[in-house]
Amino acid sequence: MVSGPQALQIWADMSQVLPCEGWASPGPRSLHYFCNVLASQAYRRPPARDEIDGDVRALAVAWFEDEACKFWPDAGKPHFDWNILVDPQDRVGPKRIDAQVLRANVDPSGCCVSSAAGSTQWRMKTDGSGFAHLYLAGAWIDTGFNTECLEAAVMSGKQASRAICGSPAVVTGEGFLHAGGSPGVSAFGGLLRGALSALGVFSRA
Ligand SMILES: Cc1cc2nc3c(=O)[nH]c(=O)nc-3n(C[C@H](O)[C@H](O)[C@H](O)COP(=O)(O)OP(=O)(O)OC[C@H]3O[C@@H](n4cnc5c(N)ncnc54)[C@H](O)[C@@H]3O)c2cc1C
Repeated sequence: MVSGPQALQIWADMSQVLPCEGWASPGPRSLHYFCNVLASQAYRRPPARDEIDGDVRALAVAWFEDEACKFWPDAGKPHFDWNILVDPQDRVGPKRIDAQVLRANVDPSGCCVSSAAGSTQWRMKTDGSGFAHLYLAGAWIDTGFNTECLEAAVMSGKQASRAICGSPAVVTGEGFLHAGGSPGVSAFGGLLRGALSALGVFSRA
């Protein structure tokens, strides 16, 4: 779900991961991830972990206190019931947040690459590392699709493979930003590209 209350409005129920986490019985009954874009410039300088972790902790406490009940109406009214959160140390109130995983992805390699207009020119192609035998893969490279998604990540892997061994010959979607598109996506891609260009989502620059 991606449209909950700010500032942690992206919610994923990840309870399927619990059996892999090795909890002693009885363990947590469910597992939830919350995230969002962090309003911070910390990625521009060496991370000040203590500072940024403190910011994220404060943000999370405020969000659980004020907003979590919009996702979980039965999680306490009028205030969030902190006892809902698992804490092996059984702390009281907001201190239970310290038993949760809080993380600010401010290290450059941990940041999500966006597709701001004019930014495509800075993306490198899979064979553009400048080093022989070093091929690039990841949603951040110039795949021809150039937006942050799993499809772009998969395309980048295929392009790296093709650069190394010639296979697969066709990477669907790599002509997305160019007239005529590429096999399999040209008709749909043309419509979608037109709609998204109008919104300023995609840029050829
Ligand atoms: C909250 C959120 C929601 C999203 N929702 C969607 C969605 O609904 N649909 C969709 O298609 N896409 C979605 N995306 C985007 C998608 O997850 C990414 O585009 C995709 O995972 C990028 O894959 P990647 O392989 O390029 O990079 P990543 O998945 O980021 O993998 C890079 C890996 O490299 C590791 N790494 C980094 N530095 C080093 C290092 N120095 N040494 C060793 N390892 C290192 C990292 O730990 C990571 O495991 C979402 C992303 C986020 C953050």
